[in-house]
Amino acid sequence: MLSLTPSHIIEYLFCPRFSYFEYVLRIPQYEGKFYKVRRGRAVHQQKTTRNPLYLRKKLGVLEKYTNQYLTNELLRGEVDEVLLLADETMAPLDYKFAVYEDRIYDTYKTQLYCYAWLIQTHFGAEVNKGYLVYTRSRSKVVEVSITNENISSIQQIAQKIRKIIQQNRYPKATKYKKRCVSCSYRNICIR
Ligand code: SF4
Repeated sequence: MLSLTPSHIIEYLFCPRFSYFEYVLRIPQYEGKFYKVRRGRAVHQQKTTRNPLYLRKKLGVLEKYTNQYLTNELLRGEVDEVLLLADETMAPLDYKFAVYEDRIYDTYKTQLYCYAWLIQTHFGAEVNKGYLVYTRSRSKVVEVSITNENISSIQQIAQKIRKIIQQNRYPKATKYKKRCVSCSYRNICIR
């Protein structure tokens, strides 16, 4: 059974053809600098020591489930923390070994949307927000709103990736041509 990760979704959003070259033709990716930096920010973060008490005070958390490895029919992922909030909704919390720079990267949001979908299916709970903790900004906690549209866009992308991989569909190129400059597939990718 096909099981995607938030990385697959982030790659697809960078360029849908990554999914084809990497998972249909099985050509390994030598990551271009631009892409690598972006994905590195989102996925391969170094984790840090966590303080279990401050979140309860700060966010009104009733219950906290740590390092939750969750799956559903298409996606899998490990959520640093799943929080049960006072209004009985749940929220993913993700630690970032990063400095907060007054904006939230799209890759971070995409990860939280993926986790929201996983939490919905696993716990059967409503999810309308997530949290990022920037450990290099004195553990600043930033709330990210999550709508049903955000979750459904992830579901649609997962379905598109499924079709690419299972039906050998060759997808459209990214519309951002500057991403092609440092792409390791540029020699085989006809634009
Ligand atoms: S060369 Fe451009 S269109 Fe082709 S895979 Fe790379 S980023 Fe996508």
